[in-house]
Amino acid sequence: MAKSIILFAGRPNSGKGSLEGRLLAEYPKLFELYSVGDKLREHRRMRTEIGLKAQSYMAQGIMVPDDLIVEMVLGDIAESTKVLLVDGFPRTIGQFQAMLDAKLYPDAVFLIEISEEEALTRSFNRRVCPGCGATYTIEGGFNPPKKRAGKCDKCGEELVMREDDKPEVSQKRQNVYTTDTEPAIDSALALFNGFVIDNMDGHGFERVEAALISIGVFDDETE
Ligand code: AMP
Repeated sequence: MAKSIILFAGRPNSGKGSLEGRLLAEYPKLFELYSVGDKLREHRRMRTEIGLKAQSYMAQGIMVPDDLIVEMVLGDIAESTKVLLVDGFPRTIGQFQAMLDAKLYPDAVFLIEISEEEALTRSFNRRVCPGCGATYTIEGGFNPPKKRAGKCDKCGEELVMREDDKPEVSQKRQNVYTTDTEPAIDSALALFNGFVIDNMDGHGFERVEAALISIGVFDDETE
């Protein structure tokens, strides 16, 4: 069982993935990440039953049905032994209720906040490697490929726009966040130890670290 569970929430492209990546890189012995979106993409790449079922929902930018998600998440996260950062769950009131029914009580809930307009711009500028999944921005962004323009630094593959970053789908995902996910996250913030982290200026990391210190996550760090 995980040492503690911290939910990371935020609208698509709020930057929560980068914040989690930095936490994992700086404190590798302490944290483990469980990202529902990444897990689903992995299932799709491996063409598992879950991946095949989830595919069409994901391509449209809408929610994969609750029963599929709840079964997958509750099964997967039981295996963690570290401080588990959970990204992308719960994303509906139904999932929030299932979480309570399973007595999965997070030690903290972090909401990473940016405006919808900024989220749409970030998604429009993102490119990914279809081979290894590495993420970049277009030239002129804050993280373009360093070796060859438009090519992955790690495996040289041509970078592409993620299907769900295309403008129509991206807007749809923002709308789904507002209607389905926001109520679930508001409930989680109110019921558990909630932190709202401003990430408009890209300096959310220091705020996240301060909040983690305040809840004692680093207290018995052995590094
Ligand atoms: P993400 O990369 O976290 O934005 O997730 C990509 C896609 O995976 C979403 O647009 C949904 O189609 C699906 N997804 C991720 N998490 C969930 C969830 N908790 N419930 C339902 N669908 C999800």
